[in-house]
Amino acid sequence: MISDFRVGFGYDSHRLTEGRPLKLGGVEIPHTHGLDGHSDADAVLHAIIDAILGAAALGDIGQHFPDTDERFRDASSDALLIEAVLFVRAKGYEPVNVDVTVIAEAPRLRPHVDAMRARIAEILGTNPGAVSVKGKTSEHMGAVGRGEGIEVHAVALVKRG
Ligand code: MG
Repeated sequence: MISDFRVGFGYDSHRLTEGRPLKLGGVEIPHTHGLDGHSDADAVLHAIIDAILGAAALGDIGQHFPDTDERFRDASSDALLIEAVLFVRAKGYEPVNVDVTVIAEAPRLRPHVDAMRARIAEILGTNPGAVSVKGKTSEHMGAVGRGEGIEVHAVALVKRG
């Protein structure tokens, strides 16, 4: 029997670099560094894309939006998540909720969490009450703790629409 509900997990990390805007959860956040990557490197949206694709067993972000493809150079990750939601819907599922943990030594994310939740909810076609974004540090341990990059973990639930 196929369950009406399915869970998916997503992970992403990007290196922090000077001279790029920092975009997380569809929101531009003032900071000295931004995330390096082929697209706009929005690691929050990338982790959510992998979580919803995973819930529907539709592969991963690299398979649908390869970083060797010039179409996705500096692409808005908002547009990639919009497309991923369409893939999930085409398979008969609708996003229910997502829970995201962002691990960053800096900047402080708390002031930006509600803006991220609102934007993610808008893209997923749900409401901000179904979108959780939590910021943590890694207590100065490892590469993230040295401020070299940002890591994101996400889980998503989808239901048969
Ligand atoms: Mg990524």
